[in-house]
Amino acid sequence: SVQPEHIHALRNILSNKTSLLTSIKGCDATVESVSESELDSFNVDWMGKYRGNSKVVLKPKSTEEVSKIVKYCYDHNLAIVPQGGNTGLVGGSVPLYDEIILNVGNMNSIRSFDEVSGIVTCDAGIILENLDNYLAEFDYTVPLDLAAKGSCQIGGNIATNAGGLRVIRYGTLRGTVLGLEVVLPDGQILDSLSTLRKNNTGFDLKQLFIGSEGSIGVITGVSLLAAPKLKAKNVAVFSLDSYDAIQRAFIKTRQHVGEILSAFEFFDQAGHRIQQVHSRNPKKIFDAGRDAAFFVLVETTGSNKDHDDQKLAALLEVLIESEIVTDGVLAQDTAQFTSLWELRETITEAAGKTGKVFKYDVSLPTSLMYSVVEATRKHLAELGLYKGEGSDGKVKSVIGFGHFGDGNIHLNVISDSYDPEVQSALEPFVYEFVAKHRGSISAEHGLGLQKAPHIGYSQLPLNVDLMHQIKSILDPKKLFNPYKFVYRPPLE
Ligand code: FAD
Repeated sequence: SVQPEHIHALRNILSNKTSLLTSIKGCDATVESVSESELDSFNVDWMGKYRGNSKVVLKPKSTEEVSKIVKYCYDHNLAIVPQGGNTGLVGGSVPLYDEIILNVGNMNSIRSFDEVSGIVTCDAGIILENLDNYLAEFDYTVPLDLAAKGSCQIGGNIATNAGGLRVIRYGTLRGTVLGLEVVLPDGQILDSLSTLRKNNTGFDLKQLFIGSEGSIGVITGVSLLAAPKLKAKNVAVFSLDSYDAIQRAFIKTRQHVGEILSAFEFFDQAGHRIQQVHSRNPKKIFDAGRDAAFFVLVETTGSNKDHDDQKLAALLEVLIESEIVTDGVLAQDTAQFTSLWELRETITEAAGKTGKVFKYDVSLPTSLMYSVVEATRKHLAELGLYKGEGSDGKVKSVIGFGHFGDGNIHLNVISDSYDPEVQSALEPFVYEFVAKHRGSISAEHGLGLQKAPHIGYSQLPLNVDLMHQIKSILDPKKLFNPYKFVYRPPLE
């Protein structure tokens, strides 16, 4: 555990007094003493589900500072939780006990940008939206977008291998991240900050850190292949009366607008109702279809507005004529574009305002994706915990939405509290369902604390063993983000 003498040594490494916040008593005036509650925004996760008890938050300003901090912690056996914007949804970004929080938010500069190749190199702590705004000045965009963009950081995105809304267009970060700078658990700086698109010289080490959830080092620098920011953007929302219809709509959409398709998202009626209750936009843009069973959002991005408008209008016609969709609305201006996107993007936030949310972010074969929602509703109903949407059971709502084009659904179960009875009704039920259909228990949010013990549902024993070996090589003292990710509890 951290003692006042550790605090003073760490303080001496940092260039700035405000880079160290501590609630430990007995430290001298050179450090920023705060109350325990002032550390809540670092100790408590976005959902209010996981709460750590760290008494020290470090906010270094350079890679060298991070390296010295980590080396000191390594030498003194102090555990560390690397933290970005703290928007993670699996309890990975906050400590379990009193681990030191190393937040990289003060490292937020652009290091270089090449306008010809579109390759940007920056600090890991830059907020995703800020990076996107910077690139927009050069008509480029980050090939990643998610509803938490105003708070999450590019380093956190890479550490979780975040997927988001545009994987269907740009692929995952495993393809667009070109290089990383990482401070390893013993303090060494791994400089893999390549700006090359092609480099077949041995193992591609940066891939180990993409999706490593702070378990084997702190990402401090990033180089990324930005995408051209194309001017013609369109969005349409359709209502449909069955899950089968979404699948048929997806086939038609790819046939008709495949080359300009940039998002194909879906949500169910329950998710839509919750979103409407908490909508920031009181003007109900899509009233006509409000009682539909499902909704699909299709976005296109291209370089020729007339061409794209025509293609999307033609798609709408085909979908309506073939009775695949029951209704549809095409954004006519920027305000409508934003309003239509809000229908999908603010569901996560609206679920959080409705109650406490048990979140399951899973991959399944496309044809079976929604069956996890139906099976969960049935299972909870049989246990007497769910009596229909908005009724007075312990579970108020079970909603399904997500990235249809990526085979990724978010199952959200909303209750008044994180009730242990609901929790044990859901786990391992959901994981067993996913494993039975050869899906993944974590499509994009990661394992964190929530799913660490359940990795075996999606990975074979040999794979898990190799992961433990990698973790042991890089973090032999197990000081980085302990108890999470591929953590294996000691044998009794
Ligand atoms: P944090 O939450 O701070 O940390 C997440 C994990 O990464 C932790 O394990 C932490 O230890 C580690 N970490 C953070 N920074 C570093 C670093 N510099 N070096 C090493 N490890 C680090 N995810 C998706 O994939 N797709 C979505 O569409 C999506 N939508 C979301 C919508 C909302 C409203 C919210 C709240 C979250 C959403 N997420 C989504 C979850 C997603 O994982 C995070 O939003 C984001 O990628 C995490 O970034 P962060 O900076 O907040 O990281």
